[in-house]
Amino acid sequence: MELNKDINQFDIPLAKRTYLNNKYSTLLKKLLIFSPFLFLIFSIAALRFIKIIKLEPLNNLKFQVERNHDGRILGHLPYNETPKEKLVLIEPNIAVHIDMRDSLLEMREEAKKDGIYLVFLSGYRSINLQNDIFYSLKSIRNQEAADRARVSAPPGYSEHSTGFAIDIGDASQRETDFEIDFENTNAFRWLIKNAAKFHFKLSFNKDNKYIDYEPWHWRYEGSIEALKVFESSNRKL
Ligand SMILES: [Zn+2]
Repeated sequence: MELNKDINQFDIPLAKRTYLNNKYSTLLKKLLIFSPFLFLIFSIAALRFIKIIKLEPLNNLKFQVERNHDGRILGHLPYNETPKEKLVLIEPNIAVHIDMRDSLLEMREEAKKDGIYLVFLSGYRSINLQNDIFYSLKSIRNQEAADRARVSAPPGYSEHSTGFAIDIGDASQRETDFEIDFENTNAFRWLIKNAAKFHFKLSFNKDNKYIDYEPWHWRYEGSIEALKVFESSNRKL
């Protein structure tokens, strides 16, 4: 009896333990059954989280690119053609935007006082004319568009279509017209020193990595309209 009692004493806690074990094993079984689903849910959550972290800088970059995207082609910005009513003739074959006429003529007069004779070579050019220049010269010189774009803007991308650009030569050294050598003329030296007073600025300087240096090509930025036209160009990328 004593032994039986002892066994019984053992039995009770043992049975209880078994019961507890059973309870845990059921839970364990359930966990095992659901573990693939739980794993899947956690994986998806983790992947989504990682994706968000990874995409964050990419999204910022995309935004940056869109903001900086200014429609350049081969380094040239797009320009609209100035309406005919805003153009005035300053020479029999040279028209410019009305806003810049007075400044341009004044500049020529001032230069004359210093013994410098500026010659106006080219002002407003329609997109059609720019088309002829770009494509005919390209074929004559046997150049590809990308090479040609270094020395001439593709149609629709020339500052000359705005009426605010002017090509200038030195009357005493016509052989330097449209040549880099123009930078060695007195006219060029005078312009570098004085053009800003008349709101003129060299468009393509030596720092431009896309377009060749054009010492003869100047643009006017002395009116609100002109500033608006060249705003993108003046914005540092
Ligand atoms: Zn030009």
